[in-house]
Amino acid sequence: MLRQTGVPAVEDLARVMPPEEVRRRGPVAIFECFERIPCDPCYWACKRGAVRPFKDINDLPGVDWERCNGCGLCVAACPGLAVFVVHEGYTDSTSLIKLPYEFLPLPEVGQVVEALDREGNCVGEARVVKVQRSREKVGTPVLWIEVERDLAHVVRNIAVAGGGQGE
Ligand code: SF4
Ligand code: SF4
Repeated sequence: MLRQTGVPAVEDLARVMPPEEVRRRGPVAIFECFERIPCDPCYWACKRGAVRPFKDINDLPGVDWERCNGCGLCVAACPGLAVFVVHEGYTDSTSLIKLPYEFLPLPEVGQVVEALDREGNCVGEARVVKVQRSREKVGTPVLWIEVERDLAHVVRNIAVAGGGQGE
């Protein structure tokens, strides 16, 4: 399915999902990176050594979950837009997702936007909690969005009314 559509199958996602006890603890990065390509900015972006050194630049990223604090630096650094941070228990009923977003206009904090799944289908609403950009405006902007808790591993993009222009 991944090869044909670019959308990962359940078994692909299961391979990259952090263990449940890690996900329960707080925000953690999820690397939805499935293709062996020469790429390693996630390794260089992580200041906590949570992305293991690549033996071969074509390797898929290996993650030490114990070191990841969900900071999201790897989300901004990944040119493949393949990394997300998920905090399942953001509130009793909602989860927080940090996702890369490279369209303009960027949404405003507090704005309610469409929550999209990996195939681009609208599955509900999301509230923008933060719009994160490095001071030097390097890397991809990272949106922090709040969604219904059962959508934590479903929502991977958003749509903003009037948006759609790439930077
Ligand atoms: S979220 Fe932060 S700590 Fe975790 S892997 Fe990414 S850069 Fe490292
Ligand atoms: S930077 Fe992104 S695409 Fe490149 S290896 Fe890391 S997760 Fe995969």
